[in-house]
Amino acid sequence: MLKHTRTKNRSPLRTSVFFVAILPSRYWLLAMAVMFCCPWAKAEWVGDKQNIMGTQVQVGLWHPDVKQGRRAAEAVMEEMRRIDNTLSPYIESSDLAQLNARAAKNAQKISDELSYLIQRSLYYSKLSEGAFDITFASVGWHYDYRNQKKPNDEQRQKLLPAINYHWLNLDTEKKVLAFEHDNVRIDLGGIAKGYAVDRAIEILKEHGVKHATVSAGGDSKVLGDKLGKPWVVGIKNPRISPQNPKEVVLSLPLFDAAVSTSGDYERFFIDAKSGERVHHIINPKTGKSANELMSVTVIGENSIDCDALSTTVFVLGREQGLALINKIPQVDAVIIDRNGKVYYSDGLMEPSND
Ligand code: AMP
Ligand code: MG
Repeated sequence: MLKHTRTKNRSPLRTSVFFVAILPSRYWLLAMAVMFCCPWAKAEWVGDKQNIMGTQVQVGLWHPDVKQGRRAAEAVMEEMRRIDNTLSPYIESSDLAQLNARAAKNAQKISDELSYLIQRSLYYSKLSEGAFDITFASVGWHYDYRNQKKPNDEQRQKLLPAINYHWLNLDTEKKVLAFEHDNVRIDLGGIAKGYAVDRAIEILKEHGVKHATVSAGGDSKVLGDKLGKPWVVGIKNPRISPQNPKEVVLSLPLFDAAVSTSGDYERFFIDAKSGERVHHIINPKTGKSANELMSVTVIGENSIDCDALSTTVFVLGREQGLALINKIPQVDAVIIDRNGKVYYSDGLMEPSND
């Protein structure tokens, strides 16, 4: 079971195999002990699912008072909607859309929240030497996956110089941001859902919740355990078949941990001419979809970091991505390359068949 501490010998993946094998005897006893000993054994389950931030947001929690539990879940959904209304590049009145419209002309005063998110984004840009870069949107906003559109070569070449996080001049004291290139646009899609999930868990804690799971698309975080058992978060097969659309390739048993998956199957289309998969994770060097991997899952303490890192590693590819993850304490990763081969960071052990 992964209580998010990194141990070389007890990987969450190995434990998942172990967990399934011993479930009957051990967990029956544990479940009985829980029913008799723990006050939250009488807790009620509250669950909600809503479409927010262009994805499905899910909250599940146990609370001894079902009304308070429902209020906590509602507060989470309200916060998700607030974050969407503030950070969505598609909502014209959002702070982010306003910045994109104005910051190349005049420096703009920004909120503490936006300043924090841009600061964290810049941190990951420096750490990855530009693989994570919110100015990817300078080219990225010309992609429309639903309508199968991508920028033509001329557009891409013209806008490529605007992808560079150095164009973002952020004064963290005064909370002022200026874009130092006319064509710069930013998009926080690679970090905002993780941030929102962290906020959701904070809100649940403020409401006295001790056992919960929250997810927004590929970003999840679990609080405590699930009636004495770990929460189980699955890594999807990146090439699911229509017969088995929820097929999971690995299950991660976790408590008090965050997990983010970035995949080339989330928003994509297949280009009719070239046959290539055009998807939503953009390599800032080329302005095209990063194409070495199919899926990257990052496990850590905070969702904001797992979210940014899953996108970063997706762009960096296997070798550089694993090297980066292995340098960061308390963070691990599972990578599936474009041939379907699975790789693990040093803190995890491959599940064995014995
Ligand atoms: P995720 O699913 O967390 O990997 O996030 C994917 C989202 O991150 C995309 O939909 C974009 O909004 C954004 N994104 C794409 N490429 C990059 C990049 N190179 N750096 C930062 N954000 C990116
Ligand atoms: Mg991400």
